[in-house]
Amino acid sequence: MQASAKSRAADTGAIDAVIVGAGFAGMYMLHRLRGLGLSVRVYEAAGDVGGTWWWNRYPGARCDVESMQYSYAFSDALQQAWRWSERFSAQPEILRYAAHVADKLDLRRDISFETRVTTAHFDEASDRWLIETDRGDRVAARWCIMATGCLSAARTPDFPGLADFGGTTYHTGQWPHEGVDFSGQRVAVIGTGSSGIQAIPVIAEQAAHLTVFQRTPNYSIPSRNGPMDDAYENSWKRDYPAYRAQARRMRTGILYGLDALYGVNDQSALEVSPEERQRLYTTRWAAGGVAFMAAFNDLIVSQEANDTAAEFVRAQIRATVHDPRVAELLAPRDYPIGTKRICVDTNYFETFNRANVTLVDVRTTPIESITAMGVRVGGVDHAVDSIVFATGFDAMTGALNNIDIRGRAARTLVDKWTEGPRTYLGLMAAGFPNLFMITGPGSPSVLSNMIVSIEQHVDWLADCIGHARARGATAVEATQAAEDGWVALVDEVGHRTLYPKANSWYMGANIPGKARVFMPYIGGVGTYREICDDVAAKGYEGLRFSAARATGSAAAE
Ligand code: FAD
Ligand code: NAP
Repeated sequence: MQASAKSRAADTGAIDAVIVGAGFAGMYMLHRLRGLGLSVRVYEAAGDVGGTWWWNRYPGARCDVESMQYSYAFSDALQQAWRWSERFSAQPEILRYAAHVADKLDLRRDISFETRVTTAHFDEASDRWLIETDRGDRVAARWCIMATGCLSAARTPDFPGLADFGGTTYHTGQWPHEGVDFSGQRVAVIGTGSSGIQAIPVIAEQAAHLTVFQRTPNYSIPSRNGPMDDAYENSWKRDYPAYRAQARRMRTGILYGLDALYGVNDQSALEVSPEERQRLYTTRWAAGGVAFMAAFNDLIVSQEANDTAAEFVRAQIRATVHDPRVAELLAPRDYPIGTKRICVDTNYFETFNRANVTLVDVRTTPIESITAMGVRVGGVDHAVDSIVFATGFDAMTGALNNIDIRGRAARTLVDKWTEGPRTYLGLMAAGFPNLFMITGPGSPSVLSNMIVSIEQHVDWLADCIGHARARGATAVEATQAAEDGWVALVDEVGHRTLYPKANSWYMGANIPGKARVFMPYIGGVGTYREICDDVAAKGYEGLRFSAARATGSAAAE
């Protein structure tokens, strides 16, 4: 069912909760809050559910966490019934899955589509958020849950001359729904992150000529994608709840295969012989996927260990790409493997052996401008008919900062986060009562199987809201001390790893002027869950519960 919001009248009045976003986070949050008996309205800028998978329809888009795990676990009936057709499902199938869940749970009746939340202001007298949308909705809600996504604010760099381009431009994160036919065209792809690496091989097969503009080469592992193996599917489904429970305790929230071969190897890369290292890397390269990074336990903390994995990948690139000059350009050197999001591909490096593909290095000579005819680099014009921007997102904070969010004393979130995001547990921010973030900065979020992290946050938040209601509190707020302590921990744990060495979007480095802070919590999904559970068990340590002045009640704590 495709949702339609065109004729919807604007909402007014007071409700219990507003959720912003109807991706996997917003959908499950709605389901849980309904279960608590709350009146809920979800606002979603897109035309239907699915979030990431509604927007990112570029050729080659698919998940790189295996589909048996990149799916909801909260309902065993759902996970038993749904059948994935491939090891790593493509975007249309994931979108169908999201729509199926929405149908099953009858979610759409509480969702306003094609509706963007523009402002959210906290009213201290009533302990309610006053929310406005670009369609004229005005609603007061006790609880405001930002399910706005970590990778939903697509970003096109401000290239000089962009407006003069005579052809067509696309962004991978805002792909036309009718699809694009590149047959016979000269196409430029700018950007070689996960999106570019997925799109480039598929576009190359269709376009007359493809020119790839690469600033930073990426480490990419072959996916070895293929049709879902029935035996593999059944082995998951036989004991799904137990496997999901194991995955929740893993650092990344992913169970790497059901046999020991690709599991997390709790050995240092430096404690085995070079031959054994080579054997393990080769096995994982052959198996495909992000389990490559679990080959040893110190790849993200020891430069020396990391170098062994990085060199292995560079050797694979050299062995794959025929032209040695192109192979060298494609081989990443100046940051540790895994410290920019590891990519997973199908025929990425092989694509550069095609006669219709050219690689242009824009690291040494940056893109000068976009002209009417194409892309100019170092005085050379590359004439193209279409430009695909695979240039990423204002990650983790972009979608939140795009909303005019004001907490106590009308302080804006943008102002509070000038030096980088500050949260307690990645869930709340001091001075912003009753405002919750799902997979917010300061939580494992983008370092994990995000559906695992989403479900954990949603469950925790539903319990927290239930707890607040049960004790008669109308406001829940992180204390400044709790937030300060958490921010310090996130920073400290991050700096125990190699991650801060890379100019990554994890560090805010892809957005000019953005504070350089390692934003996610890297202590691991399992550890993080224990911390959150412990906080709840201690009566929500670090949160202050109170009752609104307007109700006349005394503070609840
Ligand atoms: P989203 O899916 O981003 O949904 C947020 C929604 O909020 C969007 O639909 C947006 O329109 C809406 N929104 C934002 N601001 C507003 C506003 N002001 N008003 C109204 N609506 C608003 N993660 C993995 O774990 N494994 C993968 O394999 C994987 N693959 C990915 C592939 C791509 C191409 C991308 C971009 C991301 C991928 N991710 C992956 C991360 C992915 O974003 C998450 O897995 C997950 O889909 C996030 O769900 P979400 O609901 O939190 O956010
Ligand atoms: P990204 O990783 O941020 O990559 C953006 C690319 O654009 C980078 O190569 C970047 O180069 C380049 N770029 C940006 N500005 C540029 C400029 N001015 N000139 C030249 N090049 C420029 O974005 P993404 O590829 O969309 O991926 C974002 C995240 O989404 C991923 O890391 C991942 O978490 C998720 N994702 C996952 C999958 C999947 O496989 N499941 C697929 C797509 C996305 P620099 O590196 O030099 O900045």
